Amino acid sequence: MHRIRKLTPETSGKIAAGEVVERPLNVVKELVENSLDAAARRIVIELEGGGKRSIRIDDDGTGIAADDLERAVENYSTSKITDIEDLYKVRSLGFRGEALASINAVSRMTIRSKQEEVDVGREMHWVAGEVRKDGPFVRTSGTEIVVEDLFFNLPARKKFLSSDASETRRITSAIQSFALAWPQTAFVMRSNGRETLSYPAGTFEERVEMVLGASVLPNLKPFRKTDGRIEISGYTSMPSLTKGNRASQFIFVNGRSVKDRMVGHAVRQAYQSIIPGDRFPVVVLHLSIPPEMIDVNVHPAKAEVRFENERDIHRLVSTAVREAIEDRTISFREKVESVYKTIFPREDSQGGDAEDRHSGAENAGEPGRSDWLFQESPQPLFERDSNEVRGQVSTGLYWQLHDSYIMIQIRGGMVIIDQHAAHERILYDMARKNAGGEKPAVQSLLFPATLELSPDEFDKFEMIATALPNLGFEAEPFGARTIIVRGIPAGVRNWEDGILLRSILSDLGAGLPATDSILKSFACHSAVRAGEPLTLEEMESLTDQLFATEFPFTCPHGRPTMLRVEMRELEKRFQRSSKSER
Ligand code: ADP
Ligand code: MG
Repeated sequence: MHRIRKLTPETSGKIAAGEVVERPLNVVKELVENSLDAAARRIVIELEGGGKRSIRIDDDGTGIAADDLERAVENYSTSKITDIEDLYKVRSLGFRGEALASINAVSRMTIRSKQEEVDVGREMHWVAGEVRKDGPFVRTSGTEIVVEDLFFNLPARKKFLSSDASETRRITSAIQSFALAWPQTAFVMRSNGRETLSYPAGTFEERVEMVLGASVLPNLKPFRKTDGRIEISGYTSMPSLTKGNRASQFIFVNGRSVKDRMVGHAVRQAYQSIIPGDRFPVVVLHLSIPPEMIDVNVHPAKAEVRFENERDIHRLVSTAVREAIEDRTISFREKVESVYKTIFPREDSQGGDAEDRHSGAENAGEPGRSDWLFQESPQPLFERDSNEVRGQVSTGLYWQLHDSYIMIQIRGGMVIIDQHAAHERILYDMARKNAGGEKPAVQSLLFPATLELSPDEFDKFEMIATALPNLGFEAEPFGARTIIVRGIPAGVRNWEDGILLRSILSDLGAGLPATDSILKSFACHSAVRAGEPLTLEEMESLTDQLFATEFPFTCPHGRPTMLRVEMRELEKRFQRSSKSER
């Protein structure tokens, strides 16, 4: 065994640096945070070689006082807090006072800074933390920091860096995230001399449009909600716009980008029964909260925070988002139009629009997956009159495939509807409305049916007896374990001598069932099945009713109700180009 010895400052500095700086991304993040803390209105980020060769950040913020400059790069030196109590008051992004020291330990760094009140600033240059140059410097107020040859003295770490392109990509996303959090600050990013991002200062809405793309904005709904102390605001996507991963979910707590499971879960919950479990809405969410209600000091890269009152926040986020997508202020007509807009997009959609660049791996799924169903239609509504749109589906153009799918010719292609899933959505929506007090239509049985239930079934029946009338069942106890059913929901044809009701009962677990699970089970068992032939009128009415629901694209379990196949897709598969002979 070796004897214990104290590490040299140089070695311990490198080890400490490793916690803060893992790759160029961390350097950029820390430096941009510093610029934002210095109230910069404009921040320029320049990279060479993915940030491995050099990173330059220039801001027009408050600057560093000339005689503070050497202290700025000392470890645990900060102007932002003075004692531990301050941690619970901090509004700044930084507070640990170790970023500049860490970066300095593993690179060649230059800082040039000037404050507004003085004419001349100061410039210092270090190599692995050792001062090599120090003198006056003339510039406009603000700070420029150049970090060259990151990890030149830490080859082991340098080895683990990715390609230039991939390091650049990480940094680009980080800047986009900062840009969403700080709309009033202008951001410019250049990579190897080429400008790759440019966001002038603007409103939050303008910034969302700039970062996420003009085609995304029309599919986003704003929300804002507060309980007096906590305020939640932002944009969230309509169910027609979802992504294959979380890359388009931005969560900010007091201007700090965080990865927060709890908030993510609350958003997820708002979309429950609306989008499939493997799809993710686009969300930009700002949470503004008194600093004493959070702990920001729980993650080395400050990527997480801890909340004092998680439940309140969860509830607030979930309801804010849900209300936004259920927006009752949209008229029925607008809703129908927006549904048609998604299903019948303009034919001349020019591909490769802006948001493709940002969407990353989302289209990586297998071809032929239902992804194209959820493609957002970037174009504005092509026809204002929904009757005219409706006219695109003419009666002659419905077919039933294998007694299971309804195929409809539409302009530019076809829609395939899963008759069971579609009917489930219709019944679920209807039942949900009824649960809210509306009386459902009931069809009376010609001969009331008596059903003898098992003890278990009877228990469950009693538990949901009060909910059944809302679904359209007229049933009551009739002896010890027997019930009598006089009416069933109108339009339901799988009564099958009571099997329907038994199936619903058997779905319910022990304990008081949640209303939602009763509704889902009802919808599932009552809906027309695959394999049942439908008449033309039935197909038409099912389609109409589906489009009149709030969320026509998915069944209550989140599976798709319809697929869109475009002519373009067929042409591609048949290797027909537009030029080839007809
Ligand atoms: P922290 O941000 O946690 O305070 P840093 O090591 O990142 O620690 O920075 C140390 C100090 O240097 C900051 O507290 C701040 O006073 C000063 N500083 C760093 N960057 C800038 C900048 N761009 N503009 C003005 N001051 C800066
Ligand atoms: Mg900092």
